Amino acid sequence: MNYSAPYRGVDLHCHLDLFPDHRAAIRNAEAARVFTLAVTTTPRAWPRNQELSAGSPYVNAALGLHPQLVADFVHELPLWRKSLSETRFVGEVGLDAGPRFYKSFDLQKKVFRTVLEDCADIGGRILSVHSVRSAASVLELVESHLPTDLGTVVLHWFTGTLTEARRAVGLGCYFSVNTTMTQTAKGQALIASLPIDRLLSETDGPFTRSKHSTPSCPADVIEVHSEIAKIRGASADEISQSIARNLQTLLGRVEPVELH
Ligand code: MN
Repeated sequence: MNYSAPYRGVDLHCHLDLFPDHRAAIRNAEAARVFTLAVTTTPRAWPRNQELSAGSPYVNAALGLHPQLVADFVHELPLWRKSLSETRFVGEVGLDAGPRFYKSFDLQKKVFRTVLEDCADIGGRILSVHSVRSAASVLELVESHLPTDLGTVVLHWFTGTLTEARRAVGLGCYFSVNTTMTQTAKGQALIASLPIDRLLSETDGPFTRSKHSTPSCPADVIEVHSEIAKIRGASADEISQSIARNLQTLLGRVEPVELH
């Protein structure tokens, strides 16, 4: 892993393993020189993601257990715990209280609490966290179980209120913002209000669309930088530089961790 590679952009949340050709998705992120956090949705997907991105200066795999899959994959939690020593990056994890997943919400909370406690025990992890209709519960669990000095939460596609966002800032959270968020009034208000030093970008590919209407891939994160720039009345360059700086700060917090 070479954190000093000259990144053209930062995609802090992308599902490279859900593209039709996983290897090609990695190659394209590298060709675009975009730092990419390749999140996963089940612990069983981790080894393959790790293997394909090992040694990549741009792509880093994250160990996940997606809240929407918790009901069906909770038996993989022991595998998740066992794999945690192999990575600095965790995600996608979190909570989803949307109508389709609400029935597993109690179980999701138990799993997310275990994830946070394990991350606090081992220390130095960066977590990409899903919080659909559950920002308050996510923040409550983060506050109780992951002290700021023991891990860093990046709230991915945050849709909570501005008050909740302020609370998250107080808890040391970062925010990874995607194109879809830049197109809604609520997303724009959030993006305008965030401290510049907590701002990161993501595509959440292949689940969002780029301007060309194809599923977003890491190269498209450049669009996100320019959309954020419009909302904040800054230049795209300024935003790219701030995001690059924020990434370095974030990575600086994990670099000293010895992997075993
Ligand atoms: Mn996702």
